[in-house]
Amino acid sequence: MDFRWEDHDDMSTILRVQWTIEPLAAPQPHLPCSHCGRMTAFRSSGTFRLNANGKRLDAWLIYRCLGCDGTWNRPVFERLAIGTIDPDQLNQLQANDAGLAAAIAFDGAGLRRFTSRVEPDGGVRVLKQVIIAVDSWTALEITMVVLRPVSVRLDRLLARELGMSRERVKALVNMGRLRVGSDGWRRGVRDGDRVVLDYGGDVQDRALGVAAGEG
Ligand SMILES: [Zn+2]
Repeated sequence: MDFRWEDHDDMSTILRVQWTIEPLAAPQPHLPCSHCGRMTAFRSSGTFRLNANGKRLDAWLIYRCLGCDGTWNRPVFERLAIGTIDPDQLNQLQANDAGLAAAIAFDGAGLRRFTSRVEPDGGVRVLKQVIIAVDSWTALEITMVVLRPVSVRLDRLLARELGMSRERVKALVNMGRLRVGSDGWRRGVRDGDRVVLDYGGDVQDRALGVAAGEG
């Protein structure tokens, strides 16, 4: 469909909100466990292992088998010349920095280098904040903030978080009342995605309140 963002340039009529989408749990790789011998799911232990070999260093994030606690070492880097490693990263690895461990554990695309079977992140949490509040408005603009990769689809997320059926969301899209940009909405949510929902008599106030984080 064709539309222009300029249609909504009147700031005073748009309620702007931000949805921060966070995965509830890291994706789990399925791998053959060298300890119990089964094909099984692994979970990050949050700790790193470093191994120096001459002037070269290996770093792994240690995963544990959910069945037997056996380990799998997920490579962070291998055989890197020690002088080329960022000192901050080296400190984080040595300190088992939780932020670095989580950033790697939540990188599901990176996991697919090691196994074709990765269980998705298991749902998301949505934190809603009003960015620009207005007294009287005719449209709601939602900006998505996705700091870690998530596997949730935009249409499903909108239906769930707006408290509507997916058929209702689809109908609003078809009517041009819900606009998601040029590359569609049956796809994964991405950082910076912007959704505009026009207020109309049949868009319930409750749904809009929920979208703004008041529900
Ligand atoms: Zn095992």
